[in-house]
Amino acid sequence: MLQTERTARLEPLRRRLAELELDALLVTGAANVRYLSGFTGSLAYLVIGPEAAEILGDSRYWIQMEQEAAGFELVRPAASADLLSLVPERLASIGRRRVGFEAQHLTVSAFDRLRRGITEAVALEPTTGLVEEMRMRKTEEEIARMRAAASISSRAFDRIRRTIRPGLRERDLAFLLDQSFRELGADSPAFETIVASGENGARPHAHPTERMIERGDMIVFDFGARVAGYCSDISRTVVVGELSAEQRRVIEAVQQAQAAALEAMRPGISADAVERVARRSIAQTIGPEHAFGHPLGHGVGLEIHERPLLAARDRTELAPGMVITNEPGVYVPGWGGARIEDMVLITESGHEVLTAASREVPVAP
Ligand code: ZN
Repeated sequence: MLQTERTARLEPLRRRLAELELDALLVTGAANVRYLSGFTGSLAYLVIGPEAAEILGDSRYWIQMEQEAAGFELVRPAASADLLSLVPERLASIGRRRVGFEAQHLTVSAFDRLRRGITEAVALEPTTGLVEEMRMRKTEEEIARMRAAASISSRAFDRIRRTIRPGLRERDLAFLLDQSFRELGADSPAFETIVASGENGARPHAHPTERMIERGDMIVFDFGARVAGYCSDISRTVVVGELSAEQRRVIEAVQQAQAAALEAMRPGISADAVERVARRSIAQTIGPEHAFGHPLGHGVGLEIHERPLLAARDRTELAPGMVITNEPGVYVPGWGGARIEDMVLITESGHEVLTAASREVPVAP
């Protein structure tokens, strides 16, 4: 991360802390640590104050931290001391009184240990989603990485799409897809690739099984690659050979719902309103009982599931720079399912779809 971009991320956080009358924030969520400091390893804490920007890290990462988190003061614990034991001492030495911690990223036992270690002069205050809120709107640099992740996973799918045929197992197809991500330059898959054929397609989060693909199967693929830390997330549904009337009806219903939701995605609309558009569409075409029970979509970024959620409980207004999935599905227990998912960048004037993987449904058997 560029030095200027890092300071650009600390300043709004410091303003937010001032509004909340917090003297410092202890950051323990790994993706938040990465976002603010640039450090890509798995374990480090940050202490952010009006002037302070400290990174606490264990010795496995010291060299990496000096390189990646250049603007941060590296605090080294004594040999074999853990990071948490370092926090009270850091807070005492910089004289912090009201210190926020990330309630979603600190276990109850860690919190108890922390509380026992600090002096009475320091009050620990739970905070929720301060950094996550900043992460919703991506910078140009982040969007460039997400375009790369979306492009690699789209090209990988187009490649393996041609190899789908009866006799391959779900697991084979998942393996081929993961392999293509790597060949095309991804760091890794962003999550466990889903290949769900036949009646397995009725389970939105199916794990790939030994089931052999058969002629006439409808298959749901849900996959994504991670590139330079950033995730992509795509779903496609194909049918091996000719579509049955029922398959056509279900897939067209999903396509229609997705198109209607996409049309609605622009700055100013609230997340829950977009979800309602898709849900209403499926209720009219297929009936509400088989409509998706999961959110219509979610933010994507350093993590595969970020804010906002396109769901009834989320009133966040969409804004330029957000990257959100649009993934309606229809699931019929005992029969199968269909889901189509694209990543959508919210722009000043509306939206842009980042995922170009083939949307064609039939594959030649
Ligand atoms: Zn998704």
